[in-house]
Amino acid sequence: MAVLVTGGAGYIGSHTVAALHERGEEIIILDNLQQGHKEALLGGKLYVGDLRDNDILDKVFTENEIDAVIHFAANSLVGESMKNPGKYYNNNVFGTLCLLEKMNEYNVKKIVFSSTAATYGEPESVPIDEYDRTTPTNAYGETKLAMEKMMKWFDVAYGVKYISLRYFNAAGAHDSGKIGEAHDPETHLIPIVLEAALGKRPHISVFGDDYATEDGTCIRDYIHVSDLADAHLRAVDALRKGSDSAVYNLGSSHGFSVKEVIDIAREVTGREIPVVMEQRRAGDPAVLVASSTRAREELGWSPDRSNLKEIIASAWSWHVNHPNGYNE
Ligand code: UDP
Repeated sequence: MAVLVTGGAGYIGSHTVAALHERGEEIIILDNLQQGHKEALLGGKLYVGDLRDNDILDKVFTENEIDAVIHFAANSLVGESMKNPGKYYNNNVFGTLCLLEKMNEYNVKKIVFSSTAATYGEPESVPIDEYDRTTPTNAYGETKLAMEKMMKWFDVAYGVKYISLRYFNAAGAHDSGKIGEAHDPETHLIPIVLEAALGKRPHISVFGDDYATEDGTCIRDYIHVSDLADAHLRAVDALRKGSDSAVYNLGSSHGFSVKEVIDIAREVTGREIPVVMEQRRAGDPAVLVASSTRAREELGWSPDRSNLKEIIASAWSWHVNHPNGYNE
């Protein structure tokens, strides 16, 4: 039986494909390659296509014996989602509807879902646990929450079991040095900081230093992409063993401010990293830090790689060796 990975050529998807491949799983990837890179696939069989294309979904499900789906395919930029929410509802929400209907048609009843801390919005208390209020402050988080809710009702109606993994801030690169973070355009803090360290950018713009945090910059919980990949494999295993549907936070449980991230990056790279202060970015909550107790207890997951220095060092090694990402 194969695992279908939608969006498997993307950043977290490709690291999960690598982990599935390392343990000998049969892997099918569906990716429209709008943001993904086929060079990022260290295993599996790729179908290039979109979730909203009924014909490609039929082809994938008829040509392969799929027992579980890991669903990454989505747009995932907070800033863009505030400017173009329709794109997010169409690709994320409608795309997921197409996938769930097709899974149900082909009697595939297990799905691991790539969700996000953005489903919480401004947290009531920190660390955030899975029972906390979900009131997203950006359209991206709202669409991910809508996707989770859709899965809940497909479970109620048809018994499609889902495990939703709400990641905090993914960063870092694979140990092999072959895959890492390469978005175009890049909007995430750690890769941008490292591009500034490499001299590819003149500086890093810090979006707001007037938040109610110790140094005024936003606090986030950074998690190594390989720890995230491991959680997806554990979630597939749990569903195969008959787990009920569930939601898990995935974070390191430690928060770092934007300024702290830049300081650690200066230490790791030994480079100067010029900083320019700018206005707040729309949609950013001040503090997002996870309680991942539930994932630790129920999935046996432990984010062993998620020490910020190690995360930045692994990302730095990828950036130094692949200054142009996958475009050699
Ligand atoms: N950030 C920043 N400058 C940048 C990119 C990000 O100051 O060029 C801040 C952003 O406002 C947020 C944190 O860094 O507080 C992490 O942002 P990122 O986009 O990496 O992840 P997100 O938290 O949006 O998922």
